[in-house]
Order: sequence, then C-alpha cells, then structure tokens
Amino acid sequence: MSSTITDADRQQVVTLTINGVTVSVNKGMTLVEAAWHAGISRVTSVGCLEGVCGSCRVMLGRGKEVTVGLACQTFVEAGIEVVFLPAASAPRHHYEIDDFQDGWDIHARFHEIFPEASRCRHCHGCVRSCPKGIAVEDGIALAAAGRYRDAGETFIECVMCELCDVACPELIAPAHVGLFCRRVTAHFHLRPPNLIFRLEAIRQSRMEPDHE
Ligand code: SF4
Ligand code: SF4
Repeated sequence: MSSTITDADRQQVVTLTINGVTVSVNKGMTLVEAAWHAGISRVTSVGCLEGVCGSCRVMLGRGKEVTVGLACQTFVEAGIEVVFLPAASAPRHHYEIDDFQDGWDIHARFHEIFPEASRCRHCHGCVRSCPKGIAVEDGIALAAAGRYRDAGETFIECVMCELCDVACPELIAPAHVGLFCRRVTAHFHLRPPNLIFRLEAIRQSRMEPDHE
C-alpha cells in the first residue's frame, strides 16, 4: 500500500474521480473499494485484492503527473483521477518450453522469440511503471546478455500486470521476457522458492488449492 492509514484518517471524506465518475468516500479505502462503494459499473480486471494477481491496473492522474499502479494496493486521495485499464495487448511471443531439450540453444532461441530485447533504449519507463518495484530494465539487460537465471531472479516478484509492457516504447514486452526467464530457469533448474513454499503449504493443507 502506498501509505499508512490511521483511524482518524478513516473519518475523513475525500473526493476523487474513478472512470470519470466523481466519488466521495472515506480516506482509508483502496481504489477498488471506492469503486465498489460508489457503485461504479464496468470496473473489470479486479482479482485477488492482495496485489498478487496483477489484474487491477489503474492510471493515476495527480495534476499533470500521470503514473500507474494496482488499485487494490493504492488508497484513495483527494483530487486524484483514476482510470481502470484494460488488459495489456503486448505482442505475444510464442514458444513451447518443452521444446527446449537442453540449455545450449537457449540464447539463440531467446533472441528469435524476443528479437526486440536487445533494443532497450534505457528510458526507465518499465521501472517507473512497475508497482512491485522490480528492476525491470536490469532484468531485460541480464536476459539479453544470456543470464537467464539472474534475470528470472530479478522478476521473481512479478505479478504479470503488464504495466511495463504498456510502458515500453520498443515493444520488448518485459513482463513476458521475465516470464520466459523464470520458465527456462524452472525447466532446467530448481523451481522458484515462492512456488515451492506455496506448493508445500498446499501439501500440508495450510492453503486450499484454487482450481478455477
Ligand atoms: S515487471 Fe512488469 S508485469 Fe511484472 S509486476 Fe512489474 S510492471 Fe507488472
Ligand atoms: S521501457 Fe523498454 S526500452 Fe525503456 S528501459 Fe524498459 S525495457 Fe528498455
């Protein structure tokens, strides 16, 4: 979340706009809660409400400053303009991870699948757009240099919101480069630690599997 909200804060009413609708709500609400509270229809792309699924992308206008974020992780602010964004439409990169029989041809295959990855212009747009604070630009540089395990580690907290894909002027699709790196790392090495922990929690019945 962007800041700590106290009980005194929650008594305050703030006015903002969500998808062009003027809304007055209590200060402690997240943007998703505010949209629901105001009965705003056609708010789509809302998922886990915990900043994990990356679905609730929003554009945030504060005067002339425009940023992006996750609506379930951002509190309402007076005067802020919020627009829920549709799913990104970055170019898809097709590959079958099972086609990778060994690690020797990964570098050539990577640059066939992601020919744009070596064209990073270091504009920092992906870094500025990432709500998880990931060093996206560094991850792309690592992948382009063939350091897929290091790149995969860089993207380990990525929630695939694809805000970096939208921000990238070279259409590199950083989110998908990161996903590729995590996949090939898992394919040839140990699975990512957060996945191991989650599967172990399910195995020990501490977490219900979601089959949907
Ligand atoms: S790396 Fe890209 S897709 Fe992943 S969380 Fe950051 S902005 Fe979202
Ligand atoms: S937005 Fe694209 S071009 Fe800009 S730094 Fe990130 S990966 Fe490179």
